[in-house]
Amino acid sequence: MLDRSAGEMPFLEVVEPERGADVPPVARAVRRLAPYDPTTSLGHILAHPDRTPFKLDWNEATIPPSPKVLEAIARFLGNSHHLNWYPELYSHSLLAPLGDYLGVPADHVLVTNGSDDALALVCNTFLNPADEVVVPMPTYTHFLVFAQAKGGKIVNVRYDDPFEPQVERILHAISPRTKVVYLVSPNNPTGSVFLPEEVERILDHAPHAVVIVDEAYHEFYGQSVVDLVRTRPNLVVTRTFSKSFGMAGLRIGYLAAMPELVGELKRLFNPKSVNVLGQIAARAALADRDYLRDYVAEVTAAKPLVVDFLRAHGIPARTTPANYILFRPEDARVFCRQLASVGVYVRDRSTIPQCEGYIRMSIGTVAQMREVMARMETVLAPHSGW
Ligand SMILES: *Cc1c(COP(=O)(O)O)cnc(C)c1O
Repeated sequence: MLDRSAGEMPFLEVVEPERGADVPPVARAVRRLAPYDPTTSLGHILAHPDRTPFKLDWNEATIPPSPKVLEAIARFLGNSHHLNWYPELYSHSLLAPLGDYLGVPADHVLVTNGSDDALALVCNTFLNPADEVVVPMPTYTHFLVFAQAKGGKIVNVRYDDPFEPQVERILHAISPRTKVVYLVSPNNPTGSVFLPEEVERILDHAPHAVVIVDEAYHEFYGQSVVDLVRTRPNLVVTRTFSKSFGMAGLRIGYLAAMPELVGELKRLFNPKSVNVLGQIAARAALADRDYLRDYVAEVTAAKPLVVDFLRAHGIPARTTPANYILFRPEDARVFCRQLASVGVYVRDRSTIPQCEGYIRMSIGTVAQMREVMARMETVLAPHSGW
């Protein structure tokens, strides 16, 4: 039977594995995990090809990647040999452009198959069974799977107000058995951030543990702690091309850490895990920073428009420094369904402890969000007439 007591994973949708044929027993730590069945709108969207969908449920970009990315991929595909060869090992030629983008030397960078792969790599490399993993909640749930699959014991940290980090509580949760600390900044879904001095306090307090700062939404926020990897041997910063660069389907992310730490991660790292199209696309995307900057500016301008719109309709709403907002309609489940009926797909987060009642919605360009607001208006109209 499922034993989920090893850590709190209250918001993964649980599906029982198929029963019947006797397959060999899985590892003890894995046995405790329920298969992850995240709800996605993709099936619904494909079933309604007649309607322009607004896929705002997974924090992806709402526009395609730079045209230069598409050109680079097309040019590459013109040489058919490239697909029967393995990709460049370690994405070697991406290291210098990424180091330049991050402001750290190239030997501080490791390119991974999405940043999820970087999170899993840290867990797989550092965790022994029963090691403690300190995680402020609520957080990005997929990390918990990687930690628990290695037998890690999740130590949840809760703040009085989930939108206001209490660093003292994190420090208090760190013990000699702590092996990994997972900080998301800006946090998904709350949007809370850690200041560099707060991260430094945590690094000082846990010299025996790897402190991960997940900066998946960095480009929308603008701030980073990545320069600390030059001097801090226990810091790993993870980033991705999935969000602001609009390349979630290509699965490419990276981490930055001291070369000694990168060296330890390479013991287990598969140097051909990043696909060749992702490598090509990432190189082209880094060369078109104007496109990135313009998209971030659009999202930044659109966020307050949507928040003000919701508040004007009597719906409490919160902005974040990332590309999503949170809002609390009267009934989140009903409202999600109503929005889906007009082709607007959002994420119901209302069952997450301390986020009760909230919906998370990705924000796109101003023009796109004007259309989204017009569609929301049709759902809200019955209540707004008086
Ligand atoms: C979306 C997301 C990721 C996953 O990014 P990939 O690079 O697509 O694997 C990682 N961390 C957080 C906090 C996210 O929201």
